[in-house]
Order: sequence, then structure tokens, then C-alpha cells
Amino acid sequence: MKIAVLAGDGIGTEIVAEAVKVLLALDLKMEMESALVGGVAYDAFGHPLPPATLALAKASDAILFGAVGDWKYDKLERQFRPEQAILGLRKELGLFANFRPAICYEELVDASSLKPELIAGLDILIIRELTGDIYFGQPRGRRVATDGHFPGAEEAFDTMRYSRPEIERIAHVAFDAARKRSKRVTSVDKNNVLETSQLWKDVMIEVAQQYPDITLDHMLVDNAAMQLVKEPKKFDVVVTGNMFGDILSDEASMLTGSIGMLPSASLNASNQGLYEPSHGSAPDIAGKGIANPLATILSAAMMLRFSLGQADAALRIEHAVKAVLAKGLRTSDIYGKGGAGITKVSTLEMGDAVVAALA
Ligand code: NAD
Repeated sequence: MKIAVLAGDGIGTEIVAEAVKVLLALDLKMEMESALVGGVAYDAFGHPLPPATLALAKASDAILFGAVGDWKYDKLERQFRPEQAILGLRKELGLFANFRPAICYEELVDASSLKPELIAGLDILIIRELTGDIYFGQPRGRRVATDGHFPGAEEAFDTMRYSRPEIERIAHVAFDAARKRSKRVTSVDKNNVLETSQLWKDVMIEVAQQYPDITLDHMLVDNAAMQLVKEPKKFDVVVTGNMFGDILSDEASMLTGSIGMLPSASLNASNQGLYEPSHGSAPDIAGKGIANPLATILSAAMMLRFSLGQADAALRIEHAVKAVLAKGLRTSDIYGKGGAGITKVSTLEMGDAVVAALA
């Protein structure tokens, strides 16, 4: 089992260090190799996804990824910005299927800004298409300035596009996932306005014919955004395009208490995957040792299950995370109002506690 460890920028290094600590504590036979990605790679090599980093990613069974980005790179031409590294990895490795489970742990019900009865027991799975849509449409904009900004420009544009095969393969992923859950899929689009969305909806309906045991319904993205906070538990598997999925999954993260709790997996057709927390590099708290490492640790568990065939080890991590939450340990993002039996811990202490709970 070969794992590429790409920690990236900001809190990326802090949270990935904890996930690596947890993986090592499992005492499995695995090889881990690190490389620079994002802003730190740009600083060192002049590119956010240097050839050596891409080669390591391609040669590995799985990639454990932290986060990339910092406002200080905003002035760079877009192709050199840290965020291009993650888009490049998705494209180069064909990572088209993004899984974002949003689970509300019983102990964190009060950390969410929503009423406890709305989110207690929440367990939904957002499946986001990851290599099409407006983020990959051409042309990507009318470049009138070299620094990535458009001073004085009258117009800028991006193109939203999807092809039938791209929609078909993510539809199969969603229906297959639903078969292992409650057999319901909600497809989210904007077909009342967008042609891309009409194709999306038509193809979803066609593919659904092959899954007579699955119930498919459709929802417009604006309504889905509302329903996710009004009645989140009525969803089970949600499948949607790249941009809508980007926004809805961040919204869903708050149902779980904090974006620091939400893991993700991005898989290609041969189950090679990139595993990362759903959040970014959080430059506002980087270096303070307070970031929540649990989303990254839970991403490592998804990696063991999906790409490395180690479902038992994945369960051990997930149980350990539940155990530390039950013990009352909280990083500041999930501390809420605190109270009796609740202890505020640092990034490092949270990682240590998960390792201790593994035993
Ligand atoms: P962000 O997710 O980094 O942060 C949003 C808020 O959540 C911040 O207040 C932050 O402190 C908090 N937060 C995030 N993760 C946390 C954690 N583990 N523990 C505690 N608090 C946490 O989003 P942003 O501020 O909009 O973006 C910052 C940078 O990250 C930008 O450069 C952006 O492009 C980049 N980004 C990268 C990725 C990625 O690497 N896949 C994803 C999203 C954003």
C-alpha cells in the first residue's frame, strides 16, 4: 500500500500530521511518501503541482491530502494559484466521483447552529461530480491582465458543460451507493434555467431505469439549499454537479457541527482515490495549533476502506473518533458552549487522543 502524503498549505500540515500519526498507530504495512503541493510548491518550484508531486500521486494507491491556498497568492495568474493543484490532480487522475458523508455525531448536536431535533441522527451522503461543469469548461475566461485580475474589463465568462458519459458514470456511482443505504437518490440540478441541467436530469432518469429498486427524485438547487437546513434528514443520497455540489456540501458541513468534521473521498474508475477534509487551508487559524484534525483523520479512514481494502482498520479509526468525542474532547470549532465534562484540546492533543482510543 503506497500513500502519497500531500499536506499543502496553512492548517494542511498540522491536520495531516495528526492523520499520519493515526495511520502509523494502526501498524499496517504501508509506505508513505510526502511531497509539496499548493502555495508551498509554488514557492519552492514555481508551480503548485510540480511534476514530481504529480508523478508520486500517479504512482500511489491513494493520496492523503491536506488543503491548499492562501490569500497571499491571489495576485498570481490563475494557473499558478495553489487551488489549481487540486483541480490538476482531479483531472490528471480522473477523480470524477466525490463522496462527502455528512454525519452528525450525537455528542456534537449542540455544536451545530441548527436545532438539535433537526440534525440528531443525521446521516446523508452527498455525491458530487468532480471533473466536469463550469470549473473545467472552456474557455475559462477572457484574460485581459497577467496577474489574474481584470481591471477595467467589461466582461468575463465561464462555460458550464456536461457530456452524457460524464453524467452516466456519476449516476451509476450514486445509484450503487444508494443500494447500500436507504435506496433513495435525490438528483439536484437547475433544469428550469440551464441546458446542462436538463441533460443532467434526462440522463439521471435514463440510468435510473437500470435500478428499479432505487427511488429517484429531483430537486432544483435553490430549493435543495433551503431544504438542507429546513429538513435535512429527509435526504439520503444527494447527487449533483461540480459547482452545486461544492456549495451544498459546505452547507451540509454545518449540519454536522463544523466543517472541521467533514471528510471526503474523490475516486477514479479504478478506485484510486484522493482523501481530504472538505475544508480549506484556513489561513485565519494556521500555525495556532487549534485546527480540528478529525475531518482529515476520518478521510484517512475512508482511504483505508475505499482504496486500500482495509475496512476493519477504517472502522477502528471511526470508533476511536466517536470515543474521543464521547470523552468530551473538543477542538475550539466544536467546543460550542462547553460545559461539564467538555475539555478544549489542541490539534495535537486531539490526534494523540484518537491514537490512544485506537487501543
Ligand atoms: P476554509 O475552509 O479554509 O475556512 C473557512 C472557515 O472554517 C474559517 O473560519 C476556518 O478557520 C474554519 N475552518 C476550516 N477548517 C477548519 C478546521 N479543520 N478546524 C477549525 N476551523 C476550520 O475556507 P476559506 O477561508 O474560504 O478558504 C481559505 C483558503 O483555502 C483559500 O485559499 C481557498 O481557496 C482554499 N480552499 C482550499 C480547498 C482545498 O484545498 N481543497 C478547499 C476550500 C478552500
